[in-house]
Amino acid sequence: MPRTSLRLNHFTESVIRRMTRVANAHGAVNLSQGFPDFDPPEALLQAAEKAARQGPHQYAVTWGAANFRAALARKQSRFSGLPIDPDEHIVVTCGSTEAMMVAMMTVCDPGDKVIVFSPFYENYVADAILSGAEPIYVALRPPDFAFDPAELKRAFAQGAKALILCNPSNPSGKVFTREELLCIAELAEASDAFVITDEVYEHILYAPGEHVHFAALPGMFQRTLTCSSLSKTYSITGWRLGHLIAAPEVILAARKVHDFLTVGAAAPLQEAAVTALELPDCYYGELQAVYAEKRDAFLGFLDAAGLSYTRPDGAYYVMVDMSEFHCADDVAFAEWLARTVGVAGVPGSSFFREPVNHLIRFHFAKRLETLRDAGERLLSLREKASGLTWP
Ligand code: GLN
Repeated sequence: MPRTSLRLNHFTESVIRRMTRVANAHGAVNLSQGFPDFDPPEALLQAAEKAARQGPHQYAVTWGAANFRAALARKQSRFSGLPIDPDEHIVVTCGSTEAMMVAMMTVCDPGDKVIVFSPFYENYVADAILSGAEPIYVALRPPDFAFDPAELKRAFAQGAKALILCNPSNPSGKVFTREELLCIAELAEASDAFVITDEVYEHILYAPGEHVHFAALPGMFQRTLTCSSLSKTYSITGWRLGHLIAAPEVILAARKVHDFLTVGAAAPLQEAAVTALELPDCYYGELQAVYAEKRDAFLGFLDAAGLSYTRPDGAYYVMVDMSEFHCADDVAFAEWLARTVGVAGVPGSSFFREPVNHLIRFHFAKRLETLRDAGERLLSLREKASGLTWP
């Protein structure tokens, strides 16, 4: 039998998505893959019903339906302060996952180097390898997950073509400060590198944090490929609606990649999602309040279980320290946790370049009763782990 591509030897299947299958197999509360167990806004459900009846049911324009791009440009201009043009600056993609892949394939040639902060969302390394690029890692050091500017400068000095920035950050919950972003901007400019951002949690951050759109920093629009999606903001992860926003020259190149990868995102869902993009500003304030309540509730359950963690400032993940259980294999520990305690999380090692294996990532994009159920199950963790010897 012929062999499959050698590229695929350099990364594994997604551990995040595998943990969802593990959770389902054991009936565990699934706090691994980050997606809500509550409904999207009612107006959006009604719009989806209408689109199911009235269409469109055939392909939209490959880089996005005109009315979806117009609504998206209005909304993103309003929040970022940038004059985003629906015809020149946007490619609509199948989730931010595709936007990131398109961004990488648009800017990278085989052999190019791409800076990735560690810990990182696991897709970035696969994206880099699939586009022929080589990741260079720069550590984000706990407790505030700050980077060392000198280390970042050395990484750029290796000839990096691009840097990947996830802000607010998955999995750490870090929200980069304006000063940190300005430091990245200065180094990117000095090296004439692109910055590819993943801003899917742009509306999920906790007071007093503010989201700084990297592309809106002085001079940055020309070198930034902003990836984001509707998944997290409107609780529609399964709709797979994402977008890439960049300068016209970059967008012309990105359209080609996107066209041959997927042709386009689902036309009836783009039609329905115009309703979401037109929601008033108060929607976003309410979303933040809802998530602040979830975060505080879940951190309270972790406190009750006596577990320590880094308090997230943004996104909906928390990294919990499991070092007291002395399990050297966090993948085995996460599976044991799902099977025996009934709560599924993601082993921290899948996010780090460094050999880190004492952290489990939980997400809290769940109804309060789901979080309470998980919290109650976690109360039994210490007792169930006592006396165990790990493989
Ligand atoms: N971003 C989500 C997470 O980190 C999952 C996204 C996905 O699986 N596509 O859990």
